[in-house]
Amino acid sequence: MKVISDLNQPTLVDRSLAAVWHPCTQMKHHESFPLIAITKGKGPWLYDEKGNALLDCISSWWTNLFGHSNPKINQAIIDQLQKIEHVMLAGFTHQPVVELSEKLAALTNGNLGHVFYASDGASAVEIALKMSHHFWQLNSKPQKKKFVCLENGYHGETLGALAVTDVAIFREAYGSLLQDVYTVSSPDARKAKNGESAENVAKHAAAELEKLLEKEHQHIAAIIVEPLVQCAGQMAIYSPEYLRLVRELCNRYEIHLIADEIAVGCGRSGKFFACEHAGIWPDFLTLSKGISGGYLPLSLCMTTDTIYQAFYSDKTQQGFLHSHSYTGNPLACSAALACLKIFEAENVLEKNLSRAQDLANAFAWAKTDSGIEHWRQQGMILAFDIKHDGIKNISSFPREMFTKGLEEGVLIRPIGNTIYVMPPYILSTEETMRMGDAIKRALEKVLA
Ligand SMILES: *Cc1c(COP(=O)(O)O)cnc(C)c1O
Repeated sequence: MKVISDLNQPTLVDRSLAAVWHPCTQMKHHESFPLIAITKGKGPWLYDEKGNALLDCISSWWTNLFGHSNPKINQAIIDQLQKIEHVMLAGFTHQPVVELSEKLAALTNGNLGHVFYASDGASAVEIALKMSHHFWQLNSKPQKKKFVCLENGYHGETLGALAVTDVAIFREAYGSLLQDVYTVSSPDARKAKNGESAENVAKHAAAELEKLLEKEHQHIAAIIVEPLVQCAGQMAIYSPEYLRLVRELCNRYEIHLIADEIAVGCGRSGKFFACEHAGIWPDFLTLSKGISGGYLPLSLCMTTDTIYQAFYSDKTQQGFLHSHSYTGNPLACSAALACLKIFEAENVLEKNLSRAQDLANAFAWAKTDSGIEHWRQQGMILAFDIKHDGIKNISSFPREMFTKGLEEGVLIRPIGNTIYVMPPYILSTEETMRMGDAIKRALEKVLA
């Protein structure tokens, strides 16, 4: 009887599994691994159909900065909705896109004073890659068209962005569609051996890059990096010294530096832009994820006056003719402006210093656990690795942790054997401690 009534009244989850093809998912795993229908969000909490509360420890794929259903961001979008919801950005402009561009440019002290918009992160990466190569063509160096990327780096999954991504599981099926790139060693501080410093690992990695550039710079347009933290690459953290050395090499060999701050930007690293930790500016800087506070799809690529001026001409085809339908959407830009206002009005970067300390305290237990290694933190990102010999089945470990996390009221999505948190910038000290305890209990259950 139950079966019949189930068939007559499929749940939202049943209907989703029938009609929605979910991202980054082997759909068959949902036979044993729960899919959760979320009906409400408030602050750091997500609520399912039954009213169960889940603490969003990973900011809904690293996008949410100031909580779900934030009254200030809600209001900004509602206000904008009364004015203009969308207009094409070719031939037209509007207040939110102008203000957002001015504010972002000011945050770089004018170093990156020109902002080109798109909707998702991968598209912002495509823009940086295309602009770089196009710039060299305009400067009579059309042979500069190859890109350098880092081992274990991630820049999105459209074909151009995937080509500069080095995460095997995302590339495997598409290798033959991707352009050739140079992949150099990651400065991942976990590589340090016998008391070697993270700075030393960075120097070795930069020396390898130098060898490549020495030989091939005439064919190379740009190097793309995720400043300080390779997030999708298991939260690999590295020394800012690497960015300083890469900046120097790029200057010496006439190569653009693309800083992909889609995950580490917007205060995640401890400063608004992660590049600020190294005291350098790139030639291109991409933002997405947090820029709209996790509300609406928005991405952008910032660049210098030198790049911009190269495209400025009487000739149409010398312009950057790239476009996306929703480029600079006013609602998304107004959400982003509301976020920047919160950063200013509430001294968010300063307060995050103590929130980061709360995070460290909440996960102090993991620092001394003999089954755990590589405890690491960069601002509002904290991660550690479970030693492989303690894990029964590494391929199902992330899903098991996710499931046990649900039982403990926390949303986490480990990457391989790496457990990490990247919470919104609104948790109280008490909520942070509860998060640490809940994840500890979930881990104990999985490893039991
Ligand atoms: C998420 C991410 C991207 C891709 O952004 P999408 O919006 O998912 O296309 C690119 N680069 C980095 C560093 C990211 O973390």
